[in-house]
Amino acid sequence: MKADRYRFDGSRRCDLRELPCDGKQDNLDKEQILAKTARNLQEMASLQDALYADGREGLIFVLQALDAAGKDSTVKHVMGGLNPQGVLVTSFKQPNSEELSHDYLWRVHKALPPRGSIAIFNRSYYEDVLVVQLHDLQKTYKMPPRTLEEGKKAFFKKRYRQIRHYEEYLYDNGYRVVKIFLHVSKEEQRKRFLARIDNPAKNWKFSLSDVKERAHFDEYMDIFETVINETASEESPWFVLPADQKWYTRYLVSEIVVDTLRQCCHEYPRLRDEARAELQDCRTRLEAEE
Ligand code: AMP
Ligand code: MG
Repeated sequence: MKADRYRFDGSRRCDLRELPCDGKQDNLDKEQILAKTARNLQEMASLQDALYADGREGLIFVLQALDAAGKDSTVKHVMGGLNPQGVLVTSFKQPNSEELSHDYLWRVHKALPPRGSIAIFNRSYYEDVLVVQLHDLQKTYKMPPRTLEEGKKAFFKKRYRQIRHYEEYLYDNGYRVVKIFLHVSKEEQRKRFLARIDNPAKNWKFSLSDVKERAHFDEYMDIFETVINETASEESPWFVLPADQKWYTRYLVSEIVVDTLRQCCHEYPRLRDEARAELQDCRTRLEAEE
């Protein structure tokens, strides 16, 4: 699939500054891409049905990015191809006091989908190694001094390990975690912020803190790169997708979702002989009612 070139599974290094924010290199024909996306959304729906009927595997799509990279619109778009009955969307915001009085995976674990379903995480536990690391928030959270005494580097190194183990744990328990980073350029972010300021219908999406965070754009890139390299694995890969053209990003995401669904055990459950005989019996009775 086309998104494969953006896949990181730990076998090669991700160098964010070398990776494209737009899709020029892929020789895009917008009409074709839109048509393919529409087909993917249809296929997604039938694969999701099979996932639900099979009920043995759960999927978690993690969306991470800087502000205005298109997380919300990606969620909205992908949801268009899924049956809401089998999907759970969770947006991870600044932790509230109850969340802060637990370990950082507590709120994540509560948001896991039942097997047979799909979860979309709009931000995730990755915030706990991204924004938390950038702003040194670990120091402000109530934790015993022993958890911090080895210093910042060791603290986050441990968190990377915890995340790797958590994803491995989920995989071993029937869940696949697929992580998607929407790689938007600094210039495109600027344009989208301006649009949010200029367009009254978009004002609500803009906050002063977005501009403050933008000042850390380059530091964020460094941290994202480290985080991606520390946590990419064969079972839980990262996809670093060009995000400057939303229609192309949506196509790539739709490819990833379809491909992941295909990898799951998605055969409709086969009935045992007795169960099939019971079905036939029911059929005979229903027909006799006519
Ligand atoms: P938005 O997704 O634009 O609604 O913003 C949510 C905000 O919550 C972002 O600024 C995130 O960085 C922030 N956030 C999410 N998770 C955490 C976390 N664990 N610690 C601190 N801030 C967080
Ligand atoms: Mg925001």
